[in-house]
Amino acid sequence: MKCPVCSVPLERVAYEGMSVQRCGQCHGVLAGRQRVEAIKRTRGKPPKELMDEATRFASRR
Ligand SMILES: [Zn+2]
Repeated sequence: MKCPVCSVPLERVAYEGMSVQRCGQCHGVLAGRQRVEAIKRTRGKPPKELMDEATRFASRR
């Protein structure tokens, strides 16, 4: 899977015990909306970058 913004390959990383994909170029994080919600519930206050990027990426499909 490639970054929808940069079109470079994403790297799979573990975040809060869940597998998400991250772009090494724009540092956007790609995760499904369900995972984003789960991370938000787990942390209570997630990093803004994750929420913004993940939500944006998830909504593009
Ligand atoms: Zn990117």
